[in-house]
Amino acid sequence: MPDCIFCKIIAGEIPSTKIYEDEKVLAFLDINPINPGHTLVIPKTHSEDLLTASEDDLVAVIKAVKKIAPAVVRGVGAQGFNLGVNNGEAAGQIVNHLHFHIMPRFEGDGFKLWGGRQYKEGEIDEYAERIKKFLISNF
Ligand code: 5GP
Ligand code: ZN
Repeated sequence: MPDCIFCKIIAGEIPSTKIYEDEKVLAFLDINPINPGHTLVIPKTHSEDLLTASEDDLVAVIKAVKKIAPAVVRGVGAQGFNLGVNNGEAAGQIVNHLHFHIMPRFEGDGFKLWGGRQYKEGEIDEYAERIKKFLISNF
């Protein structure tokens, strides 16, 4: 993808601070971290987002996340991490090449990812029904 900044990082055309690489996956530090050590894990094959990526790439990326996240946590002395994928512009996706954010978290760092709203009476079941209609199979 000629205009994809992450494809350019994979090709070495744009510098990055790499921390992990294998046949299918690259991981490097985010230039605007929410905390030091904030890491992006990407498939080497371009896909816009989580829904268009191949299952092979998804498996490779999540396996890499499992290896990398504990090293990030230990390396920066964090106590935990958030794993995030912004899927679509409305969700804050800026770079249209699938990437998982590993965001190290420190006790009391005050970073709040989401607020949490309340359903009105009966609304939770209504929403569940609306969603289940679009699932190919449910329980
Ligand atoms: P998104 O909002 O698309 O989920 O996140 C894109 C992330 O990529 C942002 O956190 C941003 O800081 C990071 N980013 C954008 N351009 C570059 C770059 O050229 N190098 C690095 N290392 N990170 C980048
Ligand atoms: Zn790309």
